[in-house]
Amino acid sequence: MISPFKILTKDPQSKARTGILYTKHGPVKTPVFMPVATQASVKALTSADLKDIHAECLLSNTYHLYLRPTTKILKQLGGLHKFMKWDGSILTDSGGFQVYSLSQFRKISEEGVLFRSHHDGSKHLFTPENVIEFESEIGSDIWTMLDVCIHAKDPSKRDAREALEQTKRWAVRAAKHYQKVVPQQNIVQNSDGSFTVNNSLLFGIIQGSIFTDLRKEAALHMAELPTHGYCLGGLSLGETQEQMNDAVLAVTENLPENKPRYFMGLGTPVEILNSVERGVDMFDCVWPTRVARNGMVMTDEGRMNIKNACYRLDERPLDENCDCFACRNYSRAYLSHLFRSGELTSHRLLSMHNIRFLTRTMERVRESIENGTFLKFKEEFIKKYE
Ligand SMILES: [Zn+2]
Repeated sequence: MISPFKILTKDPQSKARTGILYTKHGPVKTPVFMPVATQASVKALTSADLKDIHAECLLSNTYHLYLRPTTKILKQLGGLHKFMKWDGSILTDSGGFQVYSLSQFRKISEEGVLFRSHHDGSKHLFTPENVIEFESEIGSDIWTMLDVCIHAKDPSKRDAREALEQTKRWAVRAAKHYQKVVPQQNIVQNSDGSFTVNNSLLFGIIQGSIFTDLRKEAALHMAELPTHGYCLGGLSLGETQEQMNDAVLAVTENLPENKPRYFMGLGTPVEILNSVERGVDMFDCVWPTRVARNGMVMTDEGRMNIKNACYRLDERPLDENCDCFACRNYSRAYLSHLFRSGELTSHRLLSMHNIRFLTRTMERVRESIENGTFLKFKEEFIKKYE
């Protein structure tokens, strides 16, 4: 299956690359950081804020949207883009992870996964087929397949194997159902190598926990299925950095080069750089906005806590190098005061800054790959940040 992904530069010293993923809502430059709009909103930010901080693709959660407002209602209202006034790209995860992490009850069978809503305890069934239907109702640009997720802190190989086998069987069904929902695929490669895309894309999810042989097997299996890209699921869930790096490499080494790879739920800037080095193109995480609501600010010199007394008279912006709305307009003293006073505006301004820090980091990552200096950039970034 042709993937609307154009690789621009490959780093000669690592597996890092830059590229453009084309979706029906326009191009997305990779490596990319995708802010998380869990419930049709990136917490504390508007779609206009997201444009201002150069976000190109958002991630939203099928599980959450299915339960509230419901995907039926979203469809009636013209889909998620129109609903939240966002004209960039949107990727939806499959709900597999939320069923694993949020639901008080989860029962996996061959048919699908039965779970209880974390809102009211009502019972629901996700199947590989109906998740594709829900994503179609949401109208997102990139759909992902239902998978089985397990924790990654000392998992047993038996559990990892079982989850992988179920994920593989569901992937076959999801890929088949996608063809039914999108029978006429309309992806055209233009003479300049760009693509015109008129339908939603499908990404498969690769499981296998921390076991490199299982990860390799999962990657080879997924590579055989008709998909436009790949997700690395079930990581950043308690494993060590070394286990994560090894699992990532076992996957990227066994996937075709010409399709994008997305690491689900990662992470800190350092973890992201480590994965870019190993050939991953797309990232998302709730972490930058979550910590912003606790007063934590990310800068090139590492993290700062805006609650600290030393900022009460500090007239400098949060980060001299940042071009976000908060840094263009306000002092640390003001932001510190807002946060201490419990003013909601501080959540908005700090979230804006933290996401801009990550989108700006990705801009610098892309620039360094294009200049052939990625590993040097990474080393200097980590030295300063840590
Ligand atoms: Zn800023």
